Amino acid sequence: MRLRNVKGSRETIAANNYVIQTPEDYKGKWHDFFQNNNPIHIEIGMGKGKFIMELAKQNPDINYIGIEKYSSVLVRALEKRPELETDNLVFIRMDAENIVDVFEMGEVDQIYLNFSDPWPKDRHAKRRLTSTQFLARYNQFLKPEGKVIFKTDNRPLFDFSLEQVEEAGWILENHTFDLHNSPYVEGNIMTEYETKFVAEGKPIHRMQISREV
Ligand code: SAM
Repeated sequence: MRLRNVKGSRETIAANNYVIQTPEDYKGKWHDFFQNNNPIHIEIGMGKGKFIMELAKQNPDINYIGIEKYSSVLVRALEKRPELETDNLVFIRMDAENIVDVFEMGEVDQIYLNFSDPWPKDRHAKRRLTSTQFLARYNQFLKPEGKVIFKTDNRPLFDFSLEQVEEAGWILENHTFDLHNSPYVEGNIMTEYETKFVAEGKPIHRMQISREV
């Protein structure tokens, strides 16, 4: 992804109430933070946040946490956040490599990965958000019956992810190589990248995975 440095984005983020500045402090305490016992769903690499904002609007009884590595991208989500009149969505600016510092075992019910960076070089495979290394991280905080839902237009990344799911001993609950011509499209919320790729006629791949309960 090509990034444009957005002037003042770090300062904007530091001053924004919807951004959790020290998320490690809430490890094991996210339900206290939201002041309810509703399920917690997270999106890792949320970009400008269209997908998670729409989910939060549709499901006021679910708490959402959007995670994004770059300030210059996260500020775009913050610009739209006031349109949402509910308290069920907050953001964290962090590299997901450190995600186990932020969530306690069983604290998260669902993880969304949308159009994650492909990291095409073999030596960077462990940075892919569906690598066995990342699945091992999710294993440390996802509820036993929790799910990871992954969408991408990138076939090599999707094929790699299918292999990693098997290698990690996770269960492939369902998958499709063409989401928009499959039954799984019902209720699908488009991300920014998805909107662009669908307009270009590219098929979208999607998988839903979980662990043995
Ligand atoms: N999910 C959005 C969508 O579908 O429109 C954005 C997709 S964009 C290709 C991938 C996003 O993931 C970027 O904003 C990038 O900064 C973020 N990202 C990549 N690796 C990350 C990581 N390790 N931790 C947090 N965010 C990450």
